[in-house]
Amino acid sequence: MNIILNAPSGGGKGSVAEKLVKDYNLCHISTGALFRENIKNKTPLGIKAESYVAKGVWVPDELTVDMLVAAMKDLPCAGGFILDGFPRTLKQAELLEKYVDVSMVIQLDVADDIVMKRLAGRFMCRHCGAIYNSNWDDVSGCCKACGGELYQREDDKTDVIKQRISNYNRDNGAILEFYKNKNLLHTVKVKEEYLPADTYAFVKEIIEKEGKK
Ligand code: ADP
Ligand code: ZN
Repeated sequence: MNIILNAPSGGGKGSVAEKLVKDYNLCHISTGALFRENIKNKTPLGIKAESYVAKGVWVPDELTVDMLVAAMKDLPCAGGFILDGFPRTLKQAELLEKYVDVSMVIQLDVADDIVMKRLAGRFMCRHCGAIYNSNWDDVSGCCKACGGELYQREDDKTDVIKQRISNYNRDNGAILEFYKNKNLLHTVKVKEEYLPADTYAFVKEIIEKEGKK
């Protein structure tokens, strides 16, 4: 089972993916996390991607797809993958067809104002990448999973956030259309009061229903 999680920045893809990994036998691949890892390690790919990520614009499609395909080869994953933050363009969706059988696409539909609020409160563990949010988690201490330091991403500053949201709004319609035409699209409408567990319950419902088909 290969699942694409589609949501704007701060829409909750990462927390849903963390839970899916625990409940199903899936491997989580976040292209954003892969870029951050490459940038941190100053790999040739990281050096190429750095300026795009810092500005909050998409890294070129070919670079992104090559990185993703290599990561999937490195991660032998019998149960399948959760793709988080990929595809971000129609071109990426089309290229992905060559490599992966997509089982379903779950879109978290989150309004821009909710996303802005959530991103401003988002913290990550420097060590294991776990996600926290000051809107509902205690972020004053260390990571509860591994004891690592919590930090706020450089690209979660307001102007870069706005850039990312505007890219998403520009490109995502074509992606949704692409998967809708293949009968693979499912949508969860996320309300402001939802906690991660609420969103996840809806996601799980979709997977349970679809998985049995
Ligand atoms: P977000 O919190 O916005 O969902 P991500 O961690 O998914 O952020 O991505 C961070 C940055 O990495 C993006 O702003 C972009 O520069 C780059 N990136 C991630 N995924 C992709 C992708 N599929 N295509 C192009 N660029 C990407
Ligand atoms: Zn941690």
